[in-house]
Amino acid sequence: MPESTELAPGVHRVETVTDGKLHGYHVLDGPTGPILVDPGYDAAPEEVYEPFLAGRGESLADVVATLITHVDADHHGGLGTLREHSPGATAMAHAADVPLIESRERTMAELYGRYEADGIEYDTSLKQSLWDLLGPDERVDVALRGGESIAVGERRLDVLHTPGHRRGHLMLHDPAYDLVLGADGFFGRGLYDVHGEYLQPPPYFLLPGYEDTIRLVESLAPATLSFTHYEVLEGDAVEGFVEESLDFVAEFDALAVALAAEGPVTLAAAIEDTVDRRGSFGLDLDLALPLEAHFTRLTEAGDLVETTADGRRAWERT
Ligand SMILES: [Zn+2]
Repeated sequence: MPESTELAPGVHRVETVTDGKLHGYHVLDGPTGPILVDPGYDAAPEEVYEPFLAGRGESLADVVATLITHVDADHHGGLGTLREHSPGATAMAHAADVPLIESRERTMAELYGRYEADGIEYDTSLKQSLWDLLGPDERVDVALRGGESIAVGERRLDVLHTPGHRRGHLMLHDPAYDLVLGADGFFGRGLYDVHGEYLQPPPYFLLPGYEDTIRLVESLAPATLSFTHYEVLEGDAVEGFVEESLDFVAEFDALAVALAAEGPVTLAAAIEDTVDRRGSFGLDLDLALPLEAHFTRLTEAGDLVETTADGRRAWERT
């Protein structure tokens, strides 16, 4: 039985741990039935949501809608499974992520295969497990832009467009209860397993979007911030996590300049150099994301120039 807590009236967090990684999913009590914030990975509707709903005398068949916070195997992959139980469930996601969410092939190529031309490729078993977690292709009913709202009880939760990790990443803000459901909006210094071991560096690839997203949450200063892969943050811990996330961005901006200082550096070489300097972040291949983000921003600012080295794109100081 997954653990659940009610963060605010009608806003429930349901937790599971898979392969040592925490997943805190959310259920909203909508006016006509439960709304899932992310269907989760392919089996999550049956493994995580069904037991929670059963405990309330409901089932997956009662689910009326799902708000997909972003394209990612562990966030949207369960849409097919949800619709096996509730064929009429309405799926909503940001317009920028809809084309990928609707195509497993495109998600594998454009998201998880984004850096193959840079010589950076996930191994076969990781690709297979992502493919499996993604589930079959499903249409998204409603494309959002941010600024919409979702009814819960007598109030409404605001949909925020919060790019950085993904182009179409969404958060939910509950102003009445000073709560933000943050999904994978930002990541401090990275993702850790439940034993505190590094899993992944912060997987953001869009700047200044990622920094703007952190600043947006900073300005809302919610009393409670519930991300998918962290324990619920409250009070001072919210501010601390915001600061840690901004510090990491500043640190990597300086690091990217240093990496490109001694001649053209490819993403693959930059990853190696980063691990030499900072130690391993777990899945170090994913350093490609923040490094690309910073190289791109520094190039736009005129501090770096994009060139080629070893037949691959590379960056150097101007
Ligand atoms: Zn995630």
